[in-house]
Amino acid sequence: MTVELAEQPENWTEPGAHPVLPGVHRIPLPLPLNGLRAVNVYVIEGPGGPVLIDSGWAGADGGVLEAGLRALGHGLADVAAILVTHSHHDHYTQALVVRRDHGTRVLLGRGEQHSVEAMKRRQEVGGPQSDQLVVAGAPELAAEMAVWSKEGDLADNAPWGEPDIWLDDGQQVPAGGRELEVRATPGHTRGHIVARDATLGVLFTGDHVLPHITPSIGYERAPEPAPLRSYLDSLRLAYGPR
Ligand SMILES: [Zn+2]
Repeated sequence: MTVELAEQPENWTEPGAHPVLPGVHRIPLPLPLNGLRAVNVYVIEGPGGPVLIDSGWAGADGGVLEAGLRALGHGLADVAAILVTHSHHDHYTQALVVRRDHGTRVLLGRGEQHSVEAMKRRQEVGGPQSDQLVVAGAPELAAEMAVWSKEGDLADNAPWGEPDIWLDDGQQVPAGGRELEVRATPGHTRGHIVARDATLGVLFTGDHVLPHITPSIGYERAPEPAPLRSYLDSLRLAYGPR
């Protein structure tokens, strides 16, 4: 079965809780970045409280997530769980704040373990992709990136840590009376996941598939050897019977 997606505002970053599907809303949150202006959080309604897909950047949304939830009749404390597609700050860190304040369960793909660990030890680990850049004959670029990332680290005051649940490829996650199937889609990050609602025929793609731009590939502190190849393989995944 597939259902009609609700019409979205022409400007996708327009604040609000926009209906997408029966029982599913989209709340775009502002980002503290020059290029990317917003990140989408999806709210899946359910009897045990809403489940969120992705969460926003800790301390950066000016209360927009809370206001969006309020418009749907919920508070942050009502959120049953937050399924996060990958460990980038704009998707993951606000989930850690909501967990700290309300005890909310946070779920993340198991493939992100390396990156979560490397971020915890960022002072020792150095800049993203530095070893690969040196091997590829670009030591100057590696040094430049290390300086750039150190500056980013100094300005970074977002919380960090492990999720409550590491999700595996093929795992089913209950969300609002429906089941979401987790699929591992490494590429954008090493442990990126997408969530498929097979009943409605929709896929929550995180940063694996974006509407107007191409996702960046595997710029990480604990990268796998061939993230571009993994990304292309992830794009070819057949979302049919397993
Ligand atoms: Zn991302």
